[in-house]
Amino acid sequence: MPVNDVPVPPVAIPQNTGKSADNLVPHIPGVLFQFFRSHSGHMHFPYLEGGGIALAYVDKQQLATDASLLLEQLTGDDHPKVMSAIERSARWMLPLNTRFRLPFPQEKPHWIAVSANPEPIESGVRWNGLMLDITDQVIEEQRLRKLCDTDPLTSLPNRRKLMVQLTHLTSLSTRHGTPLSIMMIDIDHFKQLNDRWGHLQGDSVLKQLATVTQSLLRCEDMVARLGGEEFMVVLPLTSLQQCHKLADRLRQTIAEHDFGMGAGSVTLSIGVAEYRCGEPMVSLIERADRALYSAKDVGRDCVCLLP
Ligand code: GH3
Ligand code: MG
Ligand code: MG
Repeated sequence: MPVNDVPVPPVAIPQNTGKSADNLVPHIPGVLFQFFRSHSGHMHFPYLEGGGIALAYVDKQQLATDASLLLEQLTGDDHPKVMSAIERSARWMLPLNTRFRLPFPQEKPHWIAVSANPEPIESGVRWNGLMLDITDQVIEEQRLRKLCDTDPLTSLPNRRKLMVQLTHLTSLSTRHGTPLSIMMIDIDHFKQLNDRWGHLQGDSVLKQLATVTQSLLRCEDMVARLGGEEFMVVLPLTSLQQCHKLADRLRQTIAEHDFGMGAGSVTLSIGVAEYRCGEPMVSLIERADRALYSAKDVGRDCVCLLP
């Protein structure tokens, strides 16, 4: 009798279906493959079999002699990504793990995950592996990532997303010596506005401010909601002078915008700062923050920069 009298579930004994592996492979929801790259760089799939939809529009016979027909179909950055994954796997004999978008006629491309083990052979490198259609999983990943990066009220990027972007842009600016400026924006007397007009009207102001600000920016710029009634605009390839000019245009546009509470009911204080090559990102943010405090000090509804 088992310990504690817990009954042991019966062990499932696999049934002998009489199917050999070759009979089985067309029924699995994935693709088994063997991929070969010769020393001269020629690639082909000696073996490529499986079920599911991944092979529906693939010419297996052609790929058996030339894999470039598949690789050349890859769009965006998938082609260089897959090629460098193959190269790295071959050079260091490490497992090949990557994903790519496989074009499908009349449909969006499907995401395919590849996992394969390399082995050196006399004439080149051979991989044995499998491919799985992970489209649903990637769509879910993208949805969650967007959720993680987005402020739910305004649909703007949130602080987390902004910090990632600013880290990237400050390193580009340091590397190339290109200008980069930011605006730190705070709505004036927003507490009073909420108290007088209600929280829902306050929310509507935040949403409209997001829309108006975005309409004044280029697509490579970013406006993010840092939290509460505070926003930051990041302007790559923009000098302090250009940033100041744009900040003043935004300030004026908002002061004149009809938020449904009469003209001048919403005003902004803005601090601007330009990145100094090589400085820590926090120094830039602190400078813009101090400029914003100066704008509050000198009476709000204005743009300030520090000398
Ligand atoms: P100042 O000019 O000095 O910036 O004054 P202020 O009133 O704007 O600043 P304070 O920090 O005192 O108040 C910010 C207010 O923003 C308080 C808070 O209730 C409001 N707030 C923060 N988040 C939201 C939001 O999501 N919706 C609304 N409606 N109000 C918010
Ligand atoms: Mg504030
Ligand atoms: Mg405020």
